[in-house]
Amino acid sequence: MNEKIALFTIFGGTGDLAKRKLYPSLFRLYRKGNLAEHFAVIGTARREWSDEHYREIVRDTIKDLAPTAEEAEAFSSHFYYQSHNVNDSEHYDTLKKLSDILNDKYQLGGNHIYYLAMAPQFFGTIVQHLKSQEILTDNGFDRLVIEKPFGSDYDSAYKLNEEIRAVFPEKDIFRIDHYLGKEMIQNISAIRFANNIFESQWNNRYIDNVQITFAESLGVEDRGGYYEHSGALKDMVQNHILQVVALLAMEPPVAFSEAEIRAEKVKALQAIRLYSEKEALQHFVRGQYGQGKLDDQVFVGYREEPNVDEHSQTETFVAGKFLIDNFRWSGVPFYIRTGKRLTEKGTRINIVFKQVPVNVFKDDVDKCGEKTDLPPNVLTIYIQPTEGFSMTLNGKEIGQGFTTTPVKLDYRHSAETTGNSPEAYEKLLLDSLNGDGTNFSHWDEVAQSWRIVDIIRHAWDKTSVDFPNYEAGSMGPDAAFKLLEQDDFTWDWQP
Ligand code: NAD
Repeated sequence: MNEKIALFTIFGGTGDLAKRKLYPSLFRLYRKGNLAEHFAVIGTARREWSDEHYREIVRDTIKDLAPTAEEAEAFSSHFYYQSHNVNDSEHYDTLKKLSDILNDKYQLGGNHIYYLAMAPQFFGTIVQHLKSQEILTDNGFDRLVIEKPFGSDYDSAYKLNEEIRAVFPEKDIFRIDHYLGKEMIQNISAIRFANNIFESQWNNRYIDNVQITFAESLGVEDRGGYYEHSGALKDMVQNHILQVVALLAMEPPVAFSEAEIRAEKVKALQAIRLYSEKEALQHFVRGQYGQGKLDDQVFVGYREEPNVDEHSQTETFVAGKFLIDNFRWSGVPFYIRTGKRLTEKGTRINIVFKQVPVNVFKDDVDKCGEKTDLPPNVLTIYIQPTEGFSMTLNGKEIGQGFTTTPVKLDYRHSAETTGNSPEAYEKLLLDSLNGDGTNFSHWDEVAQSWRIVDIIRHAWDKTSVDFPNYEAGSMGPDAAFKLLEQDDFTWDWQP
């Protein structure tokens, strides 16, 4: 039996994240036997709910997953609700009493996971109270799982980190970046380190450029209030995209362990060039979507979305170029782009290889008599919505004469396989139960990412921009295409 034993206290237990991700993920772990008899969940939030009402809500979140009402009932019987205001010390005493009762009832051995699924301004207060009200246990483990965003710049992240580290050691802090729980993000390491064909070529002698796209087709939806203070740079680049850059750029770890991988990721992030503000303006572009149309659908512009300022200067799109100053990557641009209301949803990575040293086919002509260029070999890693990878090679076109033609070796997981693969949150919750921090962000990674991003933010804050500058339903502003064109590259984006 692979049963884990723990009490989860979920701060923000009535919130969107808890309902959409945490409860279904806990249920999947329950069905797989990772959670069985020895677990309990305390949901806390401001509202006054009874245990019964809370359990009904929990059952509702798993209605598509639970094969029988009995199973849903049995699972939800482990859930308890405690109304709680995070600023009120007395409420923590009540919480401690309930924790002690559940610890005895389910024989949890003092194992405790505190999940902060709340707005970040509460993180420091909650953690301080966990210590001052003596909720942390002497036996078992006390682990803190903390949602993004971790700070809003380096200084605020540093302050928050100091508050948390005063209570929890780094090894017990699990900073969520849910992309790190995704199957294909984890597969980057398998592709790189289990295939000599790639790792031997994974450097500036063979790779021309790397392209990372995190495209969303949705607009800001009902998150305008949050997004206005964040923008694409802080919402996507500081965390998810820089994590992916680190995984692609890091040196092979000595062993596939948390400490070794972390050390290599930190080194990779530290090798990313810290631009001057002038360079940041040259290498990064921002965009905001205006009205637009796609397949008969008409979209409003960002400034017309709910809770968004009609003169908003918030970017909904970022494209940029990172340069990594080490022996492996010197001279290889890592282009990144992310945005809302783009043509289609898709997260993917292109590794674009250099051309052969001499093109012996350069005088070949195609059927129309046009000279044919050899397209580069491209390894594409598809993160979502499809998962898998493809490799484009050049082969000979069948027939008389000699004309090369691109051939795509395409391996995508079926929708069924993808559907059955564990949700990112399920994997990450299990990792936190196992005390494995590999797929979480260490403070050193968070700190360096903020240092990189703060420079871009400061440069942008000092300069004005003419928004909106791309149509909803397009692939972003012209400047994002020019960014590559000026280096003689283009974004590779095939179906
Ligand atoms: P939410 O607004 O839906 O939920 C917030 C929760 O906090 C609610 O349960 C609310 O009752 C509780 N709360 C607020 N003030 C309180 C107080 N003073 N005392 C006690 N409880 C209080 O937010 P959410 O979307 O669930 O997001 C929670 C966290 O997760 C945020 O940090 C967010 O950035 C992060 N996150 C959310 C998602 C998502 O998909 N929703 C994705 C990634 C990260």
